[in-house]
Parts: sequence; C-alpha cells; structure tokens
Amino acid sequence: MEIACLDLEGVLVPEIWIGVAKTTGIEALAATTRDVPDYDQLMRQRLDLLKQHKLRLPDIERVIAGLEPLPGAAEFLEWMREHFQVVILSDTFYEFAQPLMRQLGHPTLLCHRLTIDDEQNVVDYRLRQVDPKRKSVQAFKSLEYRTIASGDSYNDLSMLEEADAGILFSPPASVMREYPQYPVARDYQQLRDQFLIASDRY
Ligand SMILES: [Mg+2]
Repeated sequence: MEIACLDLEGVLVPEIWIGVAKTTGIEALAATTRDVPDYDQLMRQRLDLLKQHKLRLPDIERVIAGLEPLPGAAEFLEWMREHFQVVILSDTFYEFAQPLMRQLGHPTLLCHRLTIDDEQNVVDYRLRQVDPKRKSVQAFKSLEYRTIASGDSYNDLSMLEEADAGILFSPPASVMREYPQYPVARDYQQLRDQFLIASDRY
C-alpha cells in the first residue's frame, strides 16, 4: 500500500502569507519558508508584524477568502486521489486553510493551530508536534505504508528524506542546488509522471 504526502502551499495553493502581504501592503509578511528556513523564527516574525499592524484573525480570513487553489490543482488532486491514498502535510494552520480546502474537496490535511485571544488577535501558534512532516511519514511507515512525498521548499526536506521516494515541485533554485538527489517536477503533468515513476504499483 502507498500513501502520497503532498505539501500544500506552493504545490496546491499559493503561499497564503504572500497573499496577506499583497492585500495588506505589509511587505515583510511576504517572507516564507523559502526565505527563512527556521520556521519558528519565521512565525515569530509574522506574529510580531500582525501585532504591530493590528491585524486580527478576521482581517486575515477576509484575504484568504479571496484566494484560490493554483490553476489545475483541483484536477491534479482528484487524479491523485484516484491513484493513491493522499494526505496533505502542511505547516499552515486549520484556521487559514479552511476556505482553500473547501475548493479542493476537503482532502485530509495534517497541519497546526493558531492561538486566538478573545479579541480575535493571533497571539501565538501551536505546532502539532516537532518536525511534523518527518514524524507523519514515519507514522505512515509504521502502518506498513510505502510513502511518496512531494513539496517545494525547505520545510519539506525532512518529509522527502524520510519518504521512500521524494519529488520536488517547482522549487526555488537554492533548494534544487542543495538537494540534487530529488527529481524535479515543474507542472502537474510532470508531477503525475514522477508519482507514477516512484510508485511500485504502476
Ligand atoms: Mg510549500
């Protein structure tokens, strides 16, 4: 049996924080795991910026409500779910992902939660666990599933390393240079092909 583990942002949906940065005009919010490999450092930076600019959860939800999955993502995911058991492993938050998940037909999503105070301020975040993408793949392996993983960025590398096969999807040049061992897919057709190549069932 095989499980396909997919990253969310940069693979199926646009970077949510970049969308928030564009709409709010707060340029520093556009930093992602592509720019700052240390996730906690990145999140502290984001939380400070939200506080500084008095942005609350409803403001961010309004922005996210206007986002759509990447072109072709819904069809790609449908194809994937016909061929594999698919789990989305993401470092986003359920509070943010919900409107986008609706547009993708509510696939299984493992991610994190934000801590929201009574005034709807985003005061903190809670990781489900340390190194969640690697731990999830390890857990699937312990259930006797073979795993094939795909992601675009630094926070996916532990998942790719732990999986039986890893595929980079439209990664930044730096990731491609540093991790030449992974095949690279640049669009959904190539990603389908790479999943079929990595599979022991097709
Ligand atoms: Mg990503």
